[in-house]
Amino acid sequence: MTKQEAKNRIEKLKKEIDHHRYLYHVLDKQEISDAALDSLKHELFKLEQQYPEFITSDSPTQRVGGEPLSQFRKISHETPMLSIEDVFSKEELEDWRDRIQKLLPHEKFDYYTEVKMDGLAVSLIYKDGKFQIGSTRGDGKIGEDVTQNLRTIDAIPLQLRIPSEKEIDEFLKKFGQGMDTLKFKKRMRDLNGVIEVRGEAFMSKKVFEKINIEQIKKGEEPFANPRNAAAGSIRQLDPKITVSRRLDFFGYTLITEMGQVKHEQSHEIIKLIGIKVNPLNRHCDNLDRVEEFHEYVIKNREKMPYWTDGVVVVVNNDRDFDKLGVVGKTPRGMVAYKFPAEQATTVVRSVEWQVGRTGALTPVATLDPVSIGGTTVTHSTLHNFDEIRRLGVKIGDTVIVERAGDVIPKVIKVLPNLRTGHEKKIIPPKQCPVCGGPVERQEGEVAIHCMNPHCFAIEKEKILHFVSRRAFDIEGLGDKIVERFMTEGLVFSPADIFTLTKGDIEPLERFAEKSAENLVEAIEKSKRISLVRFIYALGILHVGEETSVALANYFGSLEKIKKATLDELISIPDIGEVVAKSIYEFFGKEKNKKIVDELIKNGVKIEEVKRGKKTLVAKTFVFTGELEKMTRDEAKDKVRYLGGDISGSVSKETDYVVVGREPGSKYEKAKKLGVKIINEKEFLKFLNS
Ligand SMILES: [Zn+2]
Repeated sequence: MTKQEAKNRIEKLKKEIDHHRYLYHVLDKQEISDAALDSLKHELFKLEQQYPEFITSDSPTQRVGGEPLSQFRKISHETPMLSIEDVFSKEELEDWRDRIQKLLPHEKFDYYTEVKMDGLAVSLIYKDGKFQIGSTRGDGKIGEDVTQNLRTIDAIPLQLRIPSEKEIDEFLKKFGQGMDTLKFKKRMRDLNGVIEVRGEAFMSKKVFEKINIEQIKKGEEPFANPRNAAAGSIRQLDPKITVSRRLDFFGYTLITEMGQVKHEQSHEIIKLIGIKVNPLNRHCDNLDRVEEFHEYVIKNREKMPYWTDGVVVVVNNDRDFDKLGVVGKTPRGMVAYKFPAEQATTVVRSVEWQVGRTGALTPVATLDPVSIGGTTVTHSTLHNFDEIRRLGVKIGDTVIVERAGDVIPKVIKVLPNLRTGHEKKIIPPKQCPVCGGPVERQEGEVAIHCMNPHCFAIEKEKILHFVSRRAFDIEGLGDKIVERFMTEGLVFSPADIFTLTKGDIEPLERFAEKSAENLVEAIEKSKRISLVRFIYALGILHVGEETSVALANYFGSLEKIKKATLDELISIPDIGEVVAKSIYEFFGKEKNKKIVDELIKNGVKIEEVKRGKKTLVAKTFVFTGELEKMTRDEAKDKVRYLGGDISGSVSKETDYVVVGREPGSKYEKAKKLGVKIINEKEFLKFLNS
């Protein structure tokens, strides 16, 4: 990006962010998710870091909260209330550490880490131990006086507590390293003078849900999220309403100097004088420990009684923190390490058309790398040309990409305001990008197909499907190697795989003796296969795992399936007409018959279908999270073996959701729908009963 391009991009990003803020705050509308907006702000922040000359005072990165409401008395913050920069991955966290290390090359940093509360930041000023003034952040310099409302929050003491001499001594023994002991003791003895504490007022999940039910009952709009609910509750002109909202509070910093030299000490002092702090917050020696804390909070956040969207990481040494200073309105010495979001914004750089095993051409976008859900995403499917038209996406566009659970990332929205005018239209290919053969869009189909029956790409994809994990499961036969075998003339069809010898493979470049041996062994081992896997491996159009199971269970042998009439196939429960026709046509084709015969001739042995006791008939299972005793695939096979069904998503029709380690959104959905949730232990009991 040239400097001029960066400048233009910064301008566009500022406008776009402001546009969404306006929608959100003024019109109460939300067109893009918080995660997507965060992503735009993050890009702007990074660009501004790179080109600080383009930072202007009206940049969204330079504002903190909102303008103070005119109804409230204004309070100016003697120490500005700053905002925090976000980082979204471990790499970005390490980049931050490297940046600050460069500024202070001789310091060894340790950190204090805190659960980032999704509420409203407030400042509390105590005078001679009594709660005097409470205010919102406002624009960082001037906030709103919400003292009366904050007084209604139980967790905010109206009177600070003076610790006993014994407590003070114990405190110093435990946390006092480097502290100005004299000053500390003096201040603690009476708590006279001004003491400013800052923290977060927030609403618990329970209260949030209850209040939203009440809002709906009253015919009012429910709150979009707990942050809004907390903010709306505090910025009430009538404190009675605030009381009814039952807010909570955690302190997170002590502004007044009371002898502390570390951020951890600030927390402990706040606690000592009677203000609640989050008990999960902890000191971390290095970024590995920070990473552990981050993971711990991610794992446990569902169980926590409040919402959190990240972990705040603060340079523990106050002197270092001050030396690092502030860029704009963001202190360099702290970052918010956000939890993996399911959406982010990025730019489409190019579009390639990939040929699948059915010959369908799928457009795949190459993206600027972006971290979503904890992994870096560089490609996203655009499904088909209709979808490209529906999205209106062009090459060069800024888009919102979503990656939910195990699903492949997809573009869900284009942000046309960020266009420069240099975007390029995506044109559907006029010929197959692999074989150059003719392409066609058939009646009733959205996809464009390569019509060449001998297309290299189609043949390759068929073989890759054949050896994939749920089919013949041959380890070591990846994309590149299959391509190699094909171009060397060693493999033309799936059946050829079973004729490969060590002598064939070894001479190929990159194949050492050992790996050739391993591959031959893996191929040999895969020859014994269940009927279900065998049918699935054939790659019959519309026949996935579920249909393969239905066919295997109904017919019991390959011979019977081959001989089945169309009527017979249609009569099978779970198999519709289109699918039945596709199966019938498949086995009617000479080419396919030949491949099946050759497979058997080359030594493939199909295991007979064992009929187990069908204890799970008509029961539908959904799996989420990682199991310990078996893989998810094994668990699914077991359910199917006992006659049960597997579904990929939770609905009211689901009978059981089996929850493993780190469950995804399916778990939440099951809770919402009231579907029975069982853990792995209970599931195993189920299988054995
Ligand atoms: Zn082709």
